[in-house]
Amino acid sequence: MAAVLWDIDGTLIRSGSLGTQIFDEAFTEVVGQSAPPQSFHGKTDPQIIAEHLTAIDRAHDEALIDAVVESLVSKMALHAPTMATEGWLLPGVVPLLETFARAGVHQSVLTGNVRANAIVKLETFGLLDFLDLSTGAFGSDHAHRPALGAIALERLHASGRELDPSEVWIIGDSPNDWWCAETNGFRCILVATGVVGYHELAGLGADACVTDLSDAAALASLVTSSA
Ligand SMILES: [Mg+2]
Repeated sequence: MAAVLWDIDGTLIRSGSLGTQIFDEAFTEVVGQSAPPQSFHGKTDPQIIAEHLTAIDRAHDEALIDAVVESLVSKMALHAPTMATEGWLLPGVVPLLETFARAGVHQSVLTGNVRANAIVKLETFGLLDFLDLSTGAFGSDHAHRPALGAIALERLHASGRELDPSEVWIIGDSPNDWWCAETNGFRCILVATGVVGYHELAGLGADACVTDLSDAAALASLVTSSA
């Protein structure tokens, strides 16, 4: 048996500029001050908020972080119809989800999005049916992305799937996805459909690095051969 833990943004979908816009609005409304632009890629939502606070010389404040998350969740629900038109599914995603499903690969997510927002994004693009979210891990579970690997593995085990870490695959678009896989002894496929270029990703040492997910047969064969 093998399991795939999908990253969402830049891997399954792109949400255009909407994600950043919602984030900026929520932060500014709750904190009363805007933060300078920073890289979001592969970071968890609470981590991004914490880094924004640091950037404006504010002390770390869990209650404030929770309040920004709460605002983020209500804004995401409100803007879901806009995301459906401004965002897009990435090439090869649905055929690959289908190919893994046919091959008996268990599929869930490992994402920096808080759980509620991950669900909105997956639902907007019709991907929920492919994924068992009860065995996934989210930005709402922990701010430190590598810690999400241990949480997902624990949930896989609790669901009766006695997977070795080497049978668990992360598919993601950023160096942080690879770092999470590496820390947890998982395997990793990196895809250059986010903002990090192919050559930077290819130098990290993942099991595979691809420009997009269109070669479903090759990727499914790689993942199923690990089990
Ligand atoms: Mg990503």
